[in-house]
Amino acid sequence: MYSPTAARSFPIALALHGGASNIKNMHLSPEQEMAYTLALSTALDTGYTILQRGGTSMEAVTKVVTFLENCPLFNAGKGAVLSHDGTVQMDAAVMDGATMKCGAVAGVSHIKNPVLAAQKVMEKSGFVLLSEEGAEEFARLNGLEMADSAYFITPFRKSQWEKVRLRDTTVLDNDTRGGEVHPVDETVHEKYGTVGCVALDQYGNLAAATSTGGLVNKKYHRIGDSPIIGAGTYADNRSCAVSCTGKGEDFIRYVVAHEIAALMRYKKLPVKIAAKAVLNEVKKNGGRGGCIALDRKGNVTMRFTTSGMFRAKIDGKGKRKVSIYAK
Ligand code: ASP
Repeated sequence: MYSPTAARSFPIALALHGGASNIKNMHLSPEQEMAYTLALSTALDTGYTILQRGGTSMEAVTKVVTFLENCPLFNAGKGAVLSHDGTVQMDAAVMDGATMKCGAVAGVSHIKNPVLAAQKVMEKSGFVLLSEEGAEEFARLNGLEMADSAYFITPFRKSQWEKVRLRDTTVLDNDTRGGEVHPVDETVHEKYGTVGCVALDQYGNLAAATSTGGLVNKKYHRIGDSPIIGAGTYADNRSCAVSCTGKGEDFIRYVVAHEIAALMRYKKLPVKIAAKAVLNEVKKNGGRGGCIALDRKGNVTMRFTTSGMFRAKIDGKGKRKVSIYAK
């Protein structure tokens, strides 16, 4: 267990996710389980060390998400899922809870770390959300590292896409773990492997970041909730920082991340209750997924309506947890 030093005026805390979905014990081999646990742990320690050394929450969330984007296990950056046309089309967003500044990119295919592009959009563009070639031009002009499709596409993603494409449907990334498509029902095959991180630094500032390749086999340049501020990503020092994963359409409809923040701000609900209430509402209406949320006292909730969510946290009291399944 970590022990935050007494000198800090605010507790530090960090939580991250690598997607929620219909993932059950039997879908992962012991080796795969170990690989995920190691990646989640390393990402957690990377971010928490930044906070311990006096780094900002924005620095911590972007570093953690960059690490997860570079890790081919997750559906973001290298290892992002394939769209119907066989390309990767990635979305990412960041938000700073102290200033309410935010930035996002959508539908990008050649930016090595979309989360860093989102951060640059926030800092340098004067806009909030840039898309496709325009976002890539902006990233290039701002000196970000670019990559060709061969960098992003892994053999696993190719075979996953080939299976799903035959069924002419879209699925959430993690629902196809273990090499099979594990549909929740016959019409909507869901699989989510998005990554996200929320953090609280010793200055009392919250930040959130989310990055994704979206849904497997998505069409028509579909964009999900991750880069939509208030839907998949949100941070406000007056309430909480949130990053979501799940079928983006549901999270956009219910404006999930902002709704959690609004329940805290206006109804004075604790973060745990607020997240539970909003995800229950989404679930009641057929939506699936999860979120991580963190308040200014260092309370963390990692809530999901699926059978699993790759997740990890160290809360404001220094309590550490890394897990995959419901219990
Ligand atoms: N929320 C993401 C999307 O709909 C998918 C995911 O969470 O894996 O694009």
